[in-house]
Amino acid sequence: SISNLRKPEWLKIKLNTNEQYTGLKKMMREKKLHTVCEEARCPNIHECWAVRKTATFMILGSVCTRACRFCAVQTGLPSELDWEEPERVAESVEQMGLKHVVITAVARDDLKDGGAEVFAETVKAVRRRNPFCTIEVLPSDLNGEYDNLKILMDTRPDILNHNIETVKRLSPQVRARATYERSLEFLRRGKLMNATIPTKSSIMIGLGETKEEIIETMDDLRANNVEIITIGQYLQPTKRHLKVQKYWSPEEFEELKNIALSKGFSHCEAGPLVRSSYHADEQVRAAKAN
Ligand code: SF4
Ligand code: SF4
Repeated sequence: SISNLRKPEWLKIKLNTNEQYTGLKKMMREKKLHTVCEEARCPNIHECWAVRKTATFMILGSVCTRACRFCAVQTGLPSELDWEEPERVAESVEQMGLKHVVITAVARDDLKDGGAEVFAETVKAVRRRNPFCTIEVLPSDLNGEYDNLKILMDTRPDILNHNIETVKRLSPQVRARATYERSLEFLRRGKLMNATIPTKSSIMIGLGETKEEIIETMDDLRANNVEIITIGQYLQPTKRHLKVQKYWSPEEFEELKNIALSKGFSHCEAGPLVRSSYHADEQVRAAKAN
């Protein structure tokens, strides 16, 4: 049965939790900061933090107002806004010597601006302290208010990333509050606000979608001028989350990557362990060279 679907060999990687990070992890706790790298127990942490000098910060608290069925972030009433957080993120980026940083946030549906002001302050603070570090923003749909997106776009991030997460048919079962159409519109508007900033989106596969549906999603993203796409394997974070319906093989990922490139995406990362922020440094370079 599906519940007994076994993890294939290519996903049996050892989590890299060696001492190298103890100092950095201690710094994160002291500064009350959260990284997706740690919280999602991302298998790429060594490569990203130590080799590529990139990390993904999750701001605006660690409690989300939404409860997407694939996501391990805690749901509830978030804490009060922390206006000191932008500076602490900026200091950490400096201490880690990052070359590329992804800034994401929980969905703050409790706030009219969806958290856009603190988000924008974080981008500005990071840039002030780290003028050579490229910045990728990965917001939720910010309550679907495009004025909120404008606040963020006005900071001129190097990449606007917003995840469509899954194919159209599965969106209502997989995502909470966010919709497929709204995410496309969000990306389209972002590009309209500043055409020089590349837009990017990610999809997790293995939730029961077909290859045709993945291709349809690619077409929909391209139709809304999205330039960068990442495709990764969905992994069930806990028993309470959606079950994996299929483990796509490395060969299938390779095929999807080729299809994406033939559709006109300027950059595509596709593979079992690919995450939204994986190899993001290369995407900035590629986008700038275009
Ligand atoms: Fe962090 Fe993303 Fe790298 Fe994973 S792929 S370690 S989440 S930056
Ligand atoms: Fe997780 Fe983002 Fe959904 Fe919140 S909005 S539950 S952080 S995926």
